[in-house]
Amino acid sequence: MTLDWPLHYEVVAKCSKSKGRASLMRLPHFTVETPIFMPVGTQGTMKGLTCDQLRELNCQIILANTYHLGMRPGEDVLNKAGRLHKFMDWDRGMLTDSGGFQMVSLISLSEVTEEGVRFSSPYDGRDILLTPEKSMQIQNAIGADIMMQLDDVVDVKVTGPRVEEAMHRSIRWLDRCIEGHQRKEHQNLFPIIQGGLNLELRTKCIEAMVKRNMPGYAVGGLSGGEAKDDFWKVVHHCTNLLPRDKPIYVMGVGYAIDLVVCSALGADMFDCVYPTRTARFGTALVPSGQLHLKTNQYADDFRPIDDQCTCLTCRKYTRAFIHSLVGKESVACYLLSIHNIKYQMNLMTTLRQSIIDDRLEDYIQQFFLKMFPNKDYPSWCINALDAVNIQLVT
Ligand SMILES: [Zn+2]
Repeated sequence: MTLDWPLHYEVVAKCSKSKGRASLMRLPHFTVETPIFMPVGTQGTMKGLTCDQLRELNCQIILANTYHLGMRPGEDVLNKAGRLHKFMDWDRGMLTDSGGFQMVSLISLSEVTEEGVRFSSPYDGRDILLTPEKSMQIQNAIGADIMMQLDDVVDVKVTGPRVEEAMHRSIRWLDRCIEGHQRKEHQNLFPIIQGGLNLELRTKCIEAMVKRNMPGYAVGGLSGGEAKDDFWKVVHHCTNLLPRDKPIYVMGVGYAIDLVVCSALGADMFDCVYPTRTARFGTALVPSGQLHLKTNQYADDFRPIDDQCTCLTCRKYTRAFIHSLVGKESVACYLLSIHNIKYQMNLMTTLRQSIIDDRLEDYIQQFFLKMFPNKDYPSWCINALDAVNIQLVT
């Protein structure tokens, strides 16, 4: 049976040199302009930002963590509340993860078997088994536009038979997720391509998952500390093989450089806690890289973080003011989160427009010149962009 998923993906412009593309992704709650960055809201909120602020920052789709939501408020409350969109008053796109990655990465006492992931709850110590069916049940209660399958997560530095085992198990778990998904006309399910840094395994996984005719595909198991030349080669390989008429989501990507390179490689969706997590340490994202506002050089710097930025923080406050609050007041983290999310959104909006105007190469050249005025570009960026016919200014 061919499923008619509630997602419509339409490419509106293609870069004439690279694999970059600008698209519209129509979801049940919102039409998202891709390439897009999805900020992560851990428990239905994001560093104290309200939904109105997220809308003002042009956030079109947010990522909510199933693991935390399944614990608090829990399935019953979400079902009674009419699912998370209504509960948190968010009327745009939403994606939930499977809950599995957080267990494996955050909780040392977790064990993967064919049945699922077993771990003890950090909330109350209960023994919990997260199966593909259970992940679907919780994600159905949350009600996001896009749900992620439960996959078998292996540290990217692991090699050998465990990588292949995890890839095959992720395919079997995908079938159990498809079977367990109770709201197919309202919620999309994305598979997660596994296979580590082994391109043959990635190919096998893609072939099996594409046969299932899913609404979009995620590339998983990256951004775990692998060499950057390995990272881009896997992304490049996957975007070459995946269907051109479906969105491609590269998981765990949030550094500006990675977003720009991966967009040129043909990826559409990205997520990362980086912009809000780094805000906690007093770091502001700017076109030249980062400002570490905790350092004393900002104590009497009365300029905004970025005089080109239109966010609330840059309109109203100075670097010196934020410097005086970093590490002492949570408002510093809040103000920096606003700016950093705005930076990410603005980066993706302007990049997307450059694809529409077919001047992506020029856009990327200017972006890299601002980041690396001495033209000491990372070699992996030169290699990755060269693979899609984009040359940096030398
Ligand atoms: Zn700003």
